[in-house]
Amino acid sequence: MTVARILAAKGRDVVTTQAYRTLREVVAILAERRIGAIVIADAERTVLGIVSERDIVRALSESGAEALEEPVSRHMTSRVVTVHERTTIDAVMDMMTTGRFRHAPVLEHGRLAGLVSIGDVVKHRMAEIETDQRAMREYIAAG
Ligand code: AMP
Repeated sequence: MTVARILAAKGRDVVTTQAYRTLREVVAILAERRIGAIVIADAERTVLGIVSERDIVRALSESGAEALEEPVSRHMTSRVVTVHERTTIDAVMDMMTTGRFRHAPVLEHGRLAGLVSIGDVVKHRMAEIETDQRAMREYIAAG
């Protein structure tokens, strides 16, 4: 199964913001949208970075509340690992485990075209396991 299947189920909308926005604005968006990370993109939907709850916790720990007035570009991760629609879900799981992150922007022709979170991956993996189990039970019952 590939990333395309996840996007078909959840859609391709990605919450993004601009690099000059403050961390305070980002915190408000994360809270309002009930999400854990936001992609920093330009007008052409080129990915410039990603910032997650972890980065905000680190910024607050290092600089205190003053960090909230700083631009998100100062705290985002710029070397973003991205995937394609054709990337397998197993490969995404490996990337997330090895890289210790829970979000992967999806690029098509270099432009942002979706986002896969660890929650999406787990949900689809569970569905896959259930389908396999059902098939196995039916196979055994038929014998
Ligand atoms: P997360 O587990 O997604 O909350 O992110 C943990 C750390 O990894 C944070 O510093 C994020 O900025 C960073 N991060 C999240 N997603 C990615 C990604 N796809 N590529 C590189 N770093 C990421």
